[in-house]
Amino acid sequence: MTELLFLRDAYLREFDATVVAVRDDQVALDRTAFYPTGGGQPHDTGTLGGHGVLDVRKEGEDVWHRIDGSLEVGAPVHGVIDWERRHRLMRTHTAMHVLNGVVWHRWGALATGNNMEPLVGRIDYEFDPLPPGFGEELERLVNIEIDAARDVRIEFLPHAAAQVDPDLIRTKVNLIPATVKEVRVVDIVGLDRQTDGGTHVRNTADIGRVRVVKTESKGKANKRIRIEILDKP
Ligand SMILES: [Zn+2]
Repeated sequence: MTELLFLRDAYLREFDATVVAVRDDQVALDRTAFYPTGGGQPHDTGTLGGHGVLDVRKEGEDVWHRIDGSLEVGAPVHGVIDWERRHRLMRTHTAMHVLNGVVWHRWGALATGNNMEPLVGRIDYEFDPLPPGFGEELERLVNIEIDAARDVRIEFLPHAAAQVDPDLIRTKVNLIPATVKEVRVVDIVGLDRQTDGGTHVRNTADIGRVRVVKTESKGKANKRIRIEILDKP
């Protein structure tokens, strides 16, 4: 079982760990700050014991790191996250939450899926049809929330408490199995609150600027929004 250090500290860039299993060109660690692909957020890259980290996947309770070299079971290793890539993903991921909050409060629509790469993302919403002028209005409102410099807080709630949290109910918290004792919540204070395992910046001001690049229809009640993240001018 790998301890996921990024869940409590998304700003951890380096860490020490021990190799607990090896298979082919992959190693599992007792603890890691490398984010494994999931929840629409791609994996981190960086170095582990001086070897490049090419891919990171979670399988059950273990995180496997594919490296361009070899390490032995029991070896102590130092890991370093490629911070430029990770911080861009944190800005992008947090921007997606701001979009979700704005779309919910202004239009009452829910997101049905999302995907991101560093500084670009897409989210699907259950709109039918898309309101006129949607893209421009969304961009305007999202950047207002970024400028409001809202804190982004991480909480761990007991499963039972999460089930009755009025803000979490709309994001389908009821689908989380009861075997999960603790539910991680990402709270953009006053704007958006959802269960989530990803990495985020500490404050919406750290996102920069959001530009709505494109809105497209992917069918009835499914509209796709593409965004890019820019540095603050
Ligand atoms: Zn998130």
